[in-house]
Amino acid sequence: MPVYSLASLTWTAVRELPAARTVAVLPAGAIEAHGPHLPLATDVIIAEAMARAGADRLAARGLHVLLLPALTIAPAPFAAEFAGTLDVPPEATTMIVGAVLKNLAAHGCRAAAIANAHHDPAHVAALRRAVSEMDRPGGLAAVFPDLTRRRWAERLTAEFRSGACHAGRYETSIVLAERPDLVRTDVMSTLAPNPHSLVDAIRDGRTTFASAGGPDAYFGFPAEATAEEGRAIVATLGDILADAVVEAIEPTGVAS
Ligand SMILES: [Zn+2]
Repeated sequence: MPVYSLASLTWTAVRELPAARTVAVLPAGAIEAHGPHLPLATDVIIAEAMARAGADRLAARGLHVLLLPALTIAPAPFAAEFAGTLDVPPEATTMIVGAVLKNLAAHGCRAAAIANAHHDPAHVAALRRAVSEMDRPGGLAAVFPDLTRRRWAERLTAEFRSGACHAGRYETSIVLAERPDLVRTDVMSTLAPNPHSLVDAIRDGRTTFASAGGPDAYFGFPAEATAEEGRAIVATLGDILADAVVEAIEPTGVAS
């Protein structure tokens, strides 16, 4: 079955889709500092790659997939002190995502999945709230494979699992695969390793990248990034998204 860009369709084309076999995918990113080598839109680029990869897998299982325009503005308090970062209240994200999910439910979609690449705790909590408000049987299945949960994280790279997972090898590899024109490879190759764990820093009460040990808004090992690794990660992210959707809707056998 095909993957559609919702924004490119006419309303009549959407009306003709078999809603009960249609799944929407919402990429969620941010505009925030990602080291001196990656663009502010890094999480948008990663979220869109995850959404496309997941959509391809779901379409191959016989579902119609609507790719939604990405959420690009998000709460980003950890990066707020860095130039260019846009940081909005988490309530704004919960309201927008919640409303979008209700719209999709009203249109009859079977499921809506969030492809999130922005792991600031404020943003993850805002998404969780929006999804939990939709969490009732019988209607739209709201699916949020939260990559900060062990279940999904264990399928990702060692650096991601270590918590040094912002603008490091993991994220830089994906941007090298998706948008190599936007990576400052001359800067990237000079960046010293920064193994500080954001997970540990958050546990210790830190609330900004600088106080967490990332004065240049990067963590991990960006100099080791490769496009090849980025392509492999995107494939895994697509598997995770598709697995989460199938798991949510399988009891009704819709994906057959
Ligand atoms: Zn990021």
